[in-house]
Order: sequence, then C-alpha cells, then structure tokens
Amino acid sequence: MKPILECRDLSKTFAGPTQLFKRNKQVTAVDRISLQVKAGETLAIVGESGSGKSTLGRLLLRLLAASQGQVFYQGEEITHANGAHLNRLRRELQIIFQDPFASLNPRMTVESIVGEPLWLHTKLTRDDRQARVHQLLRTVGLPPAWAQRYPHEFSGGQRQRIGIARALASEPTLLLGDEPVSALDVSVQAQVVNLLESLKQQFGLTMIIVAHGLAVIRHMSDRVAVMYLGQIVELASVDEIFDAPLHPYTQALIASAPQMQPGVPRTQPLLQGDLPNPASPPSGCRFHTRCPYVTDECRQLEPINQVLPGGRQVACHRWQEINRDRSAILIAPP
Ligand code: SF4
Ligand code: MG
Repeated sequence: MKPILECRDLSKTFAGPTQLFKRNKQVTAVDRISLQVKAGETLAIVGESGSGKSTLGRLLLRLLAASQGQVFYQGEEITHANGAHLNRLRRELQIIFQDPFASLNPRMTVESIVGEPLWLHTKLTRDDRQARVHQLLRTVGLPPAWAQRYPHEFSGGQRQRIGIARALASEPTLLLGDEPVSALDVSVQAQVVNLLESLKQQFGLTMIIVAHGLAVIRHMSDRVAVMYLGQIVELASVDEIFDAPLHPYTQALIASAPQMQPGVPRTQPLLQGDLPNPASPPSGCRFHTRCPYVTDECRQLEPINQVLPGGRQVACHRWQEINRDRSAILIAPP
C-alpha cells in the first residue's frame, strides 16, 4: 500500500510560559518522528497523556505547523501549504474531537453545524445543503428530523455522531479520531467504534486513531504506533503489538491494561511511576526511569529506531535480550 500521509523527522517545540512547564519554558512534544500512514489502513497512535500523540496527529493534518521536518500528503509536500492548497487539505483531512460536548457550538442547530463545511467548501444551494445534511445524519444513524435541534438536546454518543457527520460533510479521504470515544460511556463506546468502522468501509477512508487506552484500538486498527515522551518507541501490526510486543514500554502498557483475558496470569511487569516532565525528558532512552531492564547504556545513549524484517520498528538497546525466548519466531521473515 502506498503512503497517503507521511512525515519525516518531524518535530514540534512549544515555547512557554505555561503552568506545566514553568521551569523549562520549552517542550518538544514531538521529537524527530518519521512515519507513514498507508492508504486505507487504520493506524492507531497510542500513549499516555503528555506523550505527544495528539500533537503528532495535528501536525500530520497540518492543523499545527511543524517546527522541523516535513509532511507529505499523497506524495506532495504539505509542510508549508497555505491558501487554496491548505483549504483543500482542510477538506480532505478531517478530525473528530475527543469531547463531543465541547466541540459543538451550543448556539448552532445541528443543521448549521453539519452544514458549515458544505457552506465553506462547496457551492451547494441552501436546499441542496439541507438535503445533504439530512443524508449525512442518516449515515451516522440520526433521524434527519432532528436537524433543527441544538447540541444540548442530544446524549454524548449522539453528539459524537453529529461530530462525525460534520467531519464527513466535505467527503474527506482521511479521518483522524482524537480519542473519539474516551469521553463516552462504555456502553456507547462500542456503538461509535462500530459506526466508525462501517463508515471506513463505506467511504474507503484512511483512519488515524489517537488513544491513551489499548482496548478500544485492538479491534479497529491495522497498525499501532506507541509513543513515549514525543517519540515512537514501537510500531507494528496490531497483532504483533498485542501478542508479541517487543518494547518494554509496550509490554508494560499491555500488562497494565484492564485484563483482557481474565484468569490468564500476567507475565510482564506493570507500568511503574509517572510520566517524567516532557520539558526535561530523561537522558539516553527516555523510558529508562521506568524500565525494569535499564542499564548504564540506556541512561547515556538514545536507542536508534530499528526496522526489522517485515517492517515493524522498535527503539530499545536490549529488545533482543529481553525477548530472547520469542525472538526466533518474531523476526522470522514473512
Ligand atoms: Fe529499557 Fe534500556 Fe530498552 Fe530503554 S533502551 S526500553 S531503558 S532496556
Ligand atoms: Mg490528547
């Protein structure tokens, strides 16, 4: 599959002063990341809050400007796109926000909210816009008759459906969900996940799902990028990540997730301690302050990102030793 979206050596540094980063007024939220998103896949970007995953998503969609590095969309560089080019990107690369309560204007009707991208990006007449809004509401499972209602008249799950309808209005090629279900009740999460999956099939979308939890992404992603303090520490297929994670951080994340198979004993150490301050990340391997396998080398030298046969990536000095029992099967050529 060809990459639809790609970044090379992408960095984003925010300058303070912010409360969180009082002492050191700069934080590099995304640090020299190279990544490809393949057409038609669902790529999950996973990490704790503060890992830079939302920032990476926004950089890829050009909702934020990069401090360094390059972004490409369909083979064309978009790092400095502006004017009509940026407008086209706004249409084709859409985002669904985490909080359906905050992301919808409470003073606008559903018809105006969902119709806004049509008003901005198309020359449709008022009647045609209205017909299209009704069709979009049906697509996301809401009755068109509700178009004149306001956001407060809807439940959380319904509001997220409105956000999805708005994102679909401009017929995007790619949809980024920034924690698209984490603000919803567990009972509603599965419905929205199912909706996203069926829309992906129906419209041939590429998806990026940003999430702090692993459970949601297991059934909806093809590949998973695991982020830690602004860097990708592991990138692999969803099965590899869940069944045979190589990086100690991925292993700890999975061990710390709510038990997916109750009764099966945990074999990996749980995640210890808190995320270090992103404004002054640890030397060497950034995970070294929490890693059960840390050595002096880890404290001093930043591990390089190794690409293994088959394409999975891991950035750890000791991944082979740590996974010795399994490495024979893991790195066998496909
Ligand atoms: Fe742990 Fe060292 Fe690997 Fe970092 S490089 S994850 S500290 S073993
Ligand atoms: Mg976030």
